[in-house]
Amino acid sequence: MKIVTIPEKIEGLIFDIDLTLYGSKEYYKSQIDLLTNELINEIGMPFDEAMEDITRFRKEYANTHGGRKPALGQVFLHYGVGIERNCEWRTRLFRPEDYLVYDERLVRTLELLSVRYSLAAVTNNTTAIAARTLDVLGVRRFFPIIVALDRSLAVKPSMIPFEIALSEMKKPVACVVSVGDRMEVDLEVPVKHGMGGILVEKMEDVYALPDVLG
Ligand SMILES: [Mg+2]
Repeated sequence: MKIVTIPEKIEGLIFDIDLTLYGSKEYYKSQIDLLTNELINEIGMPFDEAMEDITRFRKEYANTHGGRKPALGQVFLHYGVGIERNCEWRTRLFRPEDYLVYDERLVRTLELLSVRYSLAAVTNNTTAIAARTLDVLGVRRFFPIIVALDRSLAVKPSMIPFEIALSEMKKPVACVVSVGDRMEVDLEVPVKHGMGGILVEKMEDVYALPDVLG
């Protein structure tokens, strides 16, 4: 766990979902593989050529963005695949139920946190996949607010999905903490706007949040 900053008064927590509320690298990898295959079909080149082209774009992007890797959504946009189709692919292809299981420790953790704080989930996945993921983990009831890609139409690290969540939580930015597994995607921008930020590196970090936040 890396605590970037925690405000004095915490009223709300905004959670990322993928690789934050579950640790299955297999499920996450399945998402990348499924989307990459779909993208390769879209590009219409032979597999190896398409992979080379994607790698070339990723390198170019990093070179012109201070070493930052592009988010998958940015790779899609390069090939003319907008957010609407990105969402359609995700909702049609992803199978959280095949990889994830009920997480009793996560349920207990969120039970404790939900008593003290207003909770929201902000994800670059779709509302349908977010809901199914939270369902299988057993924690959907703790997230009355889910801001997903098909609602915000903006890919994190955009501040837009965070702003939607803040306005629905009716909390000031300075009293909310963003919790996620990717510094550049989940934390940097919200922290720049005055939010707290906690990087979680394993599930134990998430289970420790009620103690860490006090
Ligand atoms: Mg994540």
